[in-house]
Amino acid sequence: MRKKCQICGDEFEAKSNRAMYCEYCRTKAQVERNRLYAQKRSEGKAKRIGSVQICPFCKQEYTVRSGSQQCCENCRQKQRYQRQKAEAEKYKKEHYDRLSVYVPKGKSSELKAAAAGLGMSLNEYILAALDKFVSSDDK
Ligand SMILES: [Zn+2]
Ligand SMILES: [Zn+2]
Repeated sequence: MRKKCQICGDEFEAKSNRAMYCEYCRTKAQVERNRLYAQKRSEGKAKRIGSVQICPFCKQEYTVRSGSQQCCENCRQKQRYQRQKAEAEKYKKEHYDRLSVYVPKGKSSELKAAAAGLGMSLNEYILAALDKFVSSDDK
């Protein structure tokens, strides 16, 4: 049967009664539907840049600055800091043993001050002192 295409107005040979578009327009319409569908889906997943979202951690509003951003800038930095801290802890656990020592009262702040004077942490200072002690013992 001959029908009139709803898009371009051309007559076309319809195979079914429900056909509304000529073959050319039908393909085009399908392509357009697919495109819109894909666009909608990607917008749902990746939040639109510049849109305001609620941070899942602190429940504050934030403005999306990149497609992969999932929380506010504050929480992002907090998370990064926490990740780094956890990594540092892990490294310490794997490469160092913890040694507790008792020092006379007031000695620890004295040592800390001495270490700070050399731009070291107390830990580095004690390790350096031990190294020195051991190596001078060798001679
Ligand atoms: Zn058409
Ligand atoms: Zn947040």
